[in-house]
Amino acid sequence: MSLTLNRRSFLASTAGLIALHPFSANAATNQAHLRIMETTDLHVHVFPYDYYADKPRDTVGLARTASLINAIRAEASNALLIDNGDFLQGNPMGDYIAYERGMKEGDTHPVIQAMNALGFDASTLGNHEFNYGIDFLMKALAGANFPVVNANIALELGSDPTKDKTLIPPYVILDHSVTDGAGAAHDLKVGLIGFTPPQVMNWDRRHLEGNVQARDIIETAKAYIPQMKEQGADIIVVLSHSGIGAADASDGMENASVPLAGLDGVDAILTGHSHLVFPSPDYADFAGADVDAGTLMGTPATMGGFWGSHMGLIDLLIEKDGNEWRVVSAVSEARPISKRNEDRSVTALVESDPAVLAAAQTEHDETLAYVRRAVGKTDAPLHSYFALVADDPSVQIVSIAQLWYIEEMMKGTEHEGLPILSAAAPFKAGGRGGPEYFTDVPKGDVAIKNVSDLYLYPNTVRAVRVTGQQVKDWLERSAGMFNQVESGAQDVVLLNPEFPSYNFDVIDGVSYQIDLSQPSKYDPKGELLDENASRIVNLTYDGAPLDLAAEFIIATNNYRAGGGGNFPGATSETTVFEGPDTNRDIIVRYIVEKGTISPRADSNWSFAPMEGSTVLFDTGPAATAYLDQVDVDIEPVGDGPDGFARFRISL
Ligand code: MN
Ligand code: MG
Repeated sequence: MSLTLNRRSFLASTAGLIALHPFSANAATNQAHLRIMETTDLHVHVFPYDYYADKPRDTVGLARTASLINAIRAEASNALLIDNGDFLQGNPMGDYIAYERGMKEGDTHPVIQAMNALGFDASTLGNHEFNYGIDFLMKALAGANFPVVNANIALELGSDPTKDKTLIPPYVILDHSVTDGAGAAHDLKVGLIGFTPPQVMNWDRRHLEGNVQARDIIETAKAYIPQMKEQGADIIVVLSHSGIGAADASDGMENASVPLAGLDGVDAILTGHSHLVFPSPDYADFAGADVDAGTLMGTPATMGGFWGSHMGLIDLLIEKDGNEWRVVSAVSEARPISKRNEDRSVTALVESDPAVLAAAQTEHDETLAYVRRAVGKTDAPLHSYFALVADDPSVQIVSIAQLWYIEEMMKGTEHEGLPILSAAAPFKAGGRGGPEYFTDVPKGDVAIKNVSDLYLYPNTVRAVRVTGQQVKDWLERSAGMFNQVESGAQDVVLLNPEFPSYNFDVIDGVSYQIDLSQPSKYDPKGELLDENASRIVNLTYDGAPLDLAAEFIIATNNYRAGGGGNFPGATSETTVFEGPDTNRDIIVRYIVEKGTISPRADSNWSFAPMEGSTVLFDTGPAATAYLDQVDVDIEPVGDGPDGFARFRISL
């Protein structure tokens, strides 16, 4: 009997109810249904809770994914549950354990406790497993009731990958009993091998340099897979903590899952790292990826989102032919824990599994206390009331933390020695968010939950390499925020309401003025309006006029470097560093490391003086308390619209 199903008919056949999967229901004698469930990039999200916002969140949490796991197990006769890495770091619970509570001998990490409660069969290491150092990692792994494998991180390199002294076992061959369609039990040896991006050596250099070395993923896989076959693996599943990227292998590639899937002997591949979903339209245009079949290079593949958002799922119908098992049919999908409605609200699709919540309840409660109490101090208030009219501490702190991080990341690279600038925009600056929509952290204690106020989005850090001309144009793009002011004009409305504040990048490391008498070079969407227009004047670096032909590094985020806001010079071509860390994580690390932060704005930008001209600027009424600290000539002039307060600035 031959059984092939496409993804759509499979989904239709199971819509709405839990039924036995067709592979389980219809397997013939000597055929068995093997189901592989994947979680990936959990980043310590056990509870459906956003610790930065300090409120529940239905889009995340292994406790929710766990309910899918239970349902999926009920549908199939033989199931494996595998995590694909990045479980140890990435939310305040992870930071709490690493920075505050620590891991004493015999402690079990809460995410491991939750994974133990769910009966995971195996896991691999993601790049973030190294964020707190190797000692911390090994203590965490010691608590796992399941094998954790990684083949390309070694304590010592041998003459070929199979001779390496790896940090943890490179692979495992599980003895798994499967039941065939006639009810007979068979021993099935399932080989699991894991990989992480070799870029960890750069990203976590301070923990890894001198301690471990990384191998190319493809080179390593090619060496080990035949050895696993020799040792009796019937089926090989690759745990690729690596994204879906180029189809052609290149040395040291970060996102190697497509060529990895194409290697001989690979029966199924679990992917991750990119925090996306496979199969899904996200990957429709990727060479080697078939989103309808759910395959990479013809090999069944999945990527289960991130933070527990999805359960990745691969169903294999395997058949025993003599002594060999082969895959005769496969289907893959990624099941979500929530859905986004048309009005952008979120509906949970599953309840939390109480056993998983219970496994980490103590640490959850401790984390709540941790995010609510001070982890550092600020000796200046961090507010954004004037972020659009003057250099501002809430933007400055983001810039400072990015700079601190990127300086470290550029060491030992070909970009070392180039001047490093840092770009940041005010995210909460009134506008359509309303008159209370501002960052406002008073002087004194800073708690973790305040950091989400400073950095609203879970962006990741990036760096681009640009020319001085591109630095200037980047600032010209930002300066499109303002309406033009004719010389001597009075009470001109300053801000263009079509221009969102998150596209008002301030660049630190250079000094400049914005001449509002000039037209904007770009429109609010970043389209060029006038090649010859220039609002950016007196642009200097290191006290001298900025050399437009010189090169600079700009620290920024994935949104901007990926083309968000259409900024000149911010493209994938100029991107020289893609950090695994969120900008928020970097701010937390910076505060924890420094203890007290001094986020004083350095007034590196201002409006060019326009004698006799005034503009009107609306901001939150609470701004009044800080009027004497802002570096512009400003006076209150009563109420603005919609609850805003209105101020007049003399240019
Ligand atoms: Mn990740
Ligand atoms: Mg500044």
